[in-house]
Amino acid sequence: MTDRARPQRLYLDTPVTYLKGVGPSRAEALRRLGIVTAGDLLFHVPHRYEDASTVAAIRALEPGMQGTVIGTVISKGVIPTRKGLRIFQAVLRDETGMIEVSWPGQPFLDRTIQKGDVLLVTGNVRFFHGRQLQPREFINLGDEEGATAEGRVLSVYPATEGLSFKLIRSIIDAHLDALLPLVTEYLPADALRRAGVPGIADALRMVHRPSSIAEANTGRSRLAFEELFFVQLLQQRAKELARERRAGITFVNKRSLTTKLRETLPFHLTGAQARSIREIVADMCSDRRMHRLLQGDVGSGKTIVALFAALLAIENGYQAAIMAPTELLAEQHARTMTRVLEPLGIAPILLTGSLPARERKVIAKRLESGEPVLVVGTHALVQDATVFAKLGFAAIDEQHRFGVEQRKALGAKGEAPDVLLMSATPIPRSLALTLYGDLDLSMLDERPPGRQAIATALRPESARARVLRFIDRQIEQGRQGYVVYPVIEESEKTDVKAATTMFDALSGGPFQERRLALLHGRIPADERDAIMRRFREREIDLLVATTVIEVGIDVANATVMLIEQPERFGLSQLHQLRGRVGRGADESYCILLGDVSPEAAERLQIFVRTEDGFEIAREDLRMRGMGDLFGERQSGVPTFRIADPLRDEALNERARAAANALLARDPGLEKPEHAGLRRVLGERYARSLELFRVG
Ligand code: ADP
Ligand code: MG
Repeated sequence: MTDRARPQRLYLDTPVTYLKGVGPSRAEALRRLGIVTAGDLLFHVPHRYEDASTVAAIRALEPGMQGTVIGTVISKGVIPTRKGLRIFQAVLRDETGMIEVSWPGQPFLDRTIQKGDVLLVTGNVRFFHGRQLQPREFINLGDEEGATAEGRVLSVYPATEGLSFKLIRSIIDAHLDALLPLVTEYLPADALRRAGVPGIADALRMVHRPSSIAEANTGRSRLAFEELFFVQLLQQRAKELARERRAGITFVNKRSLTTKLRETLPFHLTGAQARSIREIVADMCSDRRMHRLLQGDVGSGKTIVALFAALLAIENGYQAAIMAPTELLAEQHARTMTRVLEPLGIAPILLTGSLPARERKVIAKRLESGEPVLVVGTHALVQDATVFAKLGFAAIDEQHRFGVEQRKALGAKGEAPDVLLMSATPIPRSLALTLYGDLDLSMLDERPPGRQAIATALRPESARARVLRFIDRQIEQGRQGYVVYPVIEESEKTDVKAATTMFDALSGGPFQERRLALLHGRIPADERDAIMRRFREREIDLLVATTVIEVGIDVANATVMLIEQPERFGLSQLHQLRGRVGRGADESYCILLGDVSPEAAERLQIFVRTEDGFEIAREDLRMRGMGDLFGERQSGVPTFRIADPLRDEALNERARAAANALLARDPGLEKPEHAGLRRVLGERYARSLELFRVG
């Protein structure tokens, strides 16, 4: 393309092909990165930086140090080792000296790094036949740029085949000054002020051409903020619209049964329980349908909160249902509720699949009659045969154990019942709001008083005999325990075998005199429940199990848990498991056993150190990402390009507040001053069309 064909003026929507330095093949490569217009280029931000502003002199590097150097490659080559590993090595020189740099297992670098290239390398210095730098990160500055790199922060861009980050950087750099003035601010001024982040033009300059890492981070924070802000806007708006559409039952807070329960409970509610109940009661007494998530750590007392809500429905003449993922849990709930509701003259009904047909029929009759009862059950509750004439409240315990369809099915029973989902995987509030945008949220972030700490420890394989003796002494004293094995789905069979083999070894050897039972996912559900019942009745001393025992089981006499191959569990999962002990008045123990890698040990130490489920979930998220905590990617969970809702938690909280304030002022974003915002929303999020009628 000749210069004459280029338009005189540059706009943000000018195609990149019109930009100087961008020919057809580069334009094609840019398109693969999603960059079509000049504006796209401006918003193609670096994903990391190399800090050449703190470059050390090569001579100053000493073993044990960490440092960044810039040097010219004066020799290079691939050397094989005895173990078959191939190492690429280069010697770098600057005006002060030379150092060897070594990349084990990366012989291919020999093709991209040439003699005379200038490299910026960050890494640890060790002593190995002289000083050697072990690169953690590096960039090849080529031969011309090296001289000018020092003293700057280098932006590294997401690149693609045929278009290196350096080329991208030079294209952006060449046009940055012309493009920046074209950008006008689209976020409301008060949102920016609240967030404490720079305006868009400043932010873009800071991320592309930072004078320090700190400045790059400031620029990034603005872009992260706007991403979070947009997602919050869409979610809050969607939630509001859904709420308007969601007509529900208007209950009256009669304070008859609920007050009686409060008076007869053997304990005082925690502050968090009282607050959650207030939030739920407010929802139920409004004319909208409740759609709320109750989050609380293991043992934080979620059941009783659900019970208050159920009683509110019942005292209004409605039916209430509480659904649990296993028969065992349903039975357990029914038993506790029978006990606490006895003084109120209410007897909950238990409905599970294993009930004899005759009894099921009797229950079905009662439900169809509209009698205001409390029914506790498994997914039998959502089967077609179960008809509620007047369901007013539905709670779903351990909600992540149910499929979306099952959760929906319970809410579809009766006449638009208020729905409470309960979850024991606590995650920070702002993150929960981001992930479950369409739910309201109550948090049980407080433990009932008087709980014993569970002594937790990580022990090496060499301590096995001692650990087993310790468990045996607990049994000797009349206590019970669990031994838990990991299950990995792909090889469930071998895992079951591992548990089985171990079960044989334990029951044959160290626990010959004890009553052991084996529990895993291949055992049919009814047998599994039978085993758990025997465990509860103290007919079994030690339960050797895979993670099937994870969910809500409450056996107060179980005081010790041994977890094998602990490195194969997520921290949150370990925390759920540990929640099976420490449920009574006796001192309880959780022992992680195995020789784990130093990294695994460091991760597990977090679990050993704290019993705070929120802190543990946060660490889990930080280290393993969200996918791990939530299984496969949940639909509707937003994805982020720049922001990380967890790492940027404080920013996310400000984004939420700002979105809230904006929607309160202008719910449909219809005011003229929000036109820019509507435009950008429309460009970036297809969903915004239905929510704000933008475009
Ligand atoms: P989770 O939140 O894990 O489902 P549960 O509802 O099973 O917890 O409660 C765990 C135990 O704590 C139960 O035995 C319950 O009776 C007891 N509990 C609940 N609330 C309180 C409280 N405020 N004070 C003392 N104990 C409580
Ligand atoms: Mg529970």
